[in-house]
Amino acid sequence: MDFDLTEEQRMIRDAAREFAQGVVAPGAAERDRTATFPIEQFRAAAAQGFAGMVIPSQYGGSALGNVALSLILIEINKACASTGVTLSVHNSLCSAPLVKFGTDEQKRRYLPKLASGEWLGAYSLSEAGCGSDAAALVCSARADGDSFVLEGTKLWVTSATHADFFIVFARTAKEAKKAQGISAFLVERTFPGFVVSKKEDKLGIRASSTCELVFDGCRVPAANVLGEVGRGFPIAMDTLDGGRIGIASQAIGIARAATDAAVRYAKERRQFDRPIAEFEAIQFKLADMNARTDAAELCVLRAAWLKDLGRPHGREAAVAKLLASETANFCAREAVQIHGGAGYLEDFPVERNMRDAKITEIYEGTTEIQKLVIARHVLA
Ligand SMILES: Cc1cc2nc3c(=O)[nH]c(=O)nc-3n(C[C@H](O)[C@H](O)[C@H](O)COP(=O)(O)OP(=O)(O)OC[C@H]3O[C@@H](n4cnc5c(N)ncnc54)[C@H](O)[C@@H]3O)c2cc1C
Repeated sequence: MDFDLTEEQRMIRDAAREFAQGVVAPGAAERDRTATFPIEQFRAAAAQGFAGMVIPSQYGGSALGNVALSLILIEINKACASTGVTLSVHNSLCSAPLVKFGTDEQKRRYLPKLASGEWLGAYSLSEAGCGSDAAALVCSARADGDSFVLEGTKLWVTSATHADFFIVFARTAKEAKKAQGISAFLVERTFPGFVVSKKEDKLGIRASSTCELVFDGCRVPAANVLGEVGRGFPIAMDTLDGGRIGIASQAIGIARAATDAAVRYAKERRQFDRPIAEFEAIQFKLADMNARTDAAELCVLRAAWLKDLGRPHGREAAVAKLLASETANFCAREAVQIHGGAGYLEDFPVERNMRDAKITEIYEGTTEIQKLVIARHVLA
């Protein structure tokens, strides 16, 4: 048993910290206020190799793996959760399934663009009637010659305003069992019949974009089916196992940011002739925030480590996301409380931390769905 990071991992974390504080943190509050997508920050992160974390070097990736990706995401989310989710989705939900399930030709065509950050990736599973019940999707793909024709509307696609490349799940057969008959498609933004439609206005991660996609007779070459026709649902679920580690890392970043801000404020703010950090009630809050974040972070790194070893990590990813997302919300709420009235104002970062933390309990499987996943393993 060894809890130390390797020398390489330490260097990556330090580089990510310097990058996040120097390039991502400046303007994060303003981007949040104006809902401005962090495309420049994404491109700058790509220049550091952060867009190709799980892509093999033969396709231009940095291939640093999932523990390194978690360390980077923690640092970037400390600075800006909108930039953090952009990188998480790009690496874990878009590049990773292409690396794992793609053909050589698909990898050669798309991975170098994703690794360099020339293209930004997205993942589209959800629909109006399909959220937690992901197998209920109705968006259809009809075989026609050497292509498929996609029809329907997808919802809540992260990064869609700027994404160039989407992994889209659609129904290729109306089987009795609804998880069967779903296929995964590699869709380029420029394919005719594909439109990025309404952009949502959100509580948190406001600089990240979340959009509806409309497919109106969109023709996708059969060569762009990811994996086998009719075997898309297991790809969607396997991908989310990895994605959850990314969102859990995001939650740790938010928790750490909120705690750091609360520590700074508690040392500066004086009431009753002393800094509020001298009150035991405040110290206990800070201790709980620190302890819970440490425990959750260990779970996150364990899940990432298992994934790097190619070992099963579904339960561990669900545990990590459950604990980390609850910790992020706990820490952000306590940080606002420690700030008193100031915490309720836009002037301090904890207000944004609290709004950003909420989404980590919802996307890539809600808290309730993580518990269902864990319970299935416990009862098996
Ligand atoms: C900002 C944002 C970004 C997103 N990005 C993406 C993206 O990039 N790609 C994508 O495909 N999707 C994305 N989503 C969709 C997201 O993954 C879903 O919102 C999420 O999975 C929950 O689905 P739902 O909203 O339909 O809620 P529902 O499934 O309707 O759930 C509503 C409530 O019921 C509970 N519930 C549902 N079923 C059960 C059950 N069996 N047992 C107990 N409780 C249950 C849920 O936990 C929740 O509390 C995004 C959503 C948001 C808000």
